[in-house]
Amino acid sequence: MMEINTPADMDKKYHKLILVTAPSGSGKTSIVKFLIRKFPVLAFSVSATTRKPRSNEKDGVDYYFISQESFEKKIHEKEFLEWEMVYEGKYYGTLKSEIERLWSEGRVPILDIDVQGAIHVQQHYPVNTMVVFVQAPSAEELRRRLESRGSETLESLEARVSKSAYEMTFKKHFDKVVINRDFDTACQEAAGLVEDFLAKP
Ligand code: 5GP
Repeated sequence: MMEINTPADMDKKYHKLILVTAPSGSGKTSIVKFLIRKFPVLAFSVSATTRKPRSNEKDGVDYYFISQESFEKKIHEKEFLEWEMVYEGKYYGTLKSEIERLWSEGRVPILDIDVQGAIHVQQHYPVNTMVVFVQAPSAEELRRRLESRGSETLESLEARVSKSAYEMTFKKHFDKVVINRDFDTACQEAAGLVEDFLAKP
């Protein structure tokens, strides 16, 4: 859901922004981590979410893990650039303050975001935004990856697999597509896209 469109945002269109989007389980988070290690100017934009942290996740690093009440208060107070209920009952959102902080530090924010969120952010910042869509090789492979991650319940796994088929239909909205058949190759392809984008005036 798009939340802002004020004249004050107009000058921000000259700041660069990178969005990495994909169906869940396609490996985009690992690709984002690779890109951040490779390009020091990139900085991960930490989203807020109401889902529970996984065992390897840290608050303020992977997400700002907040309560539903606090998330809804931030929606009300228009603190989000965009937000979605990505999975049933779980909110995810990009904080305006996060993007602005990174821009003020001279960094290029990189967002790990679902396809609807990517479309909204792209509409909001159409000029200097690059969106990379990461495609998992097949539905079977996607299911296998989600299972091997071991962090999903049967219910949340099914929700992610069925949402992923729906999200694949959005591929046509994005002109930069990286197929994650082989992780290293996908990283190199994504790095090539980022390099070209950063080199643009
Ligand atoms: P996960 O629960 O696996 O960390 O993330 C689930 C989905 O939510 C992923 O597709 C991820 O990219 C997306 N996501 C993470 N942060 C945001 C956000 O701020 N906004 C939106 N719209 N989606 C997000």
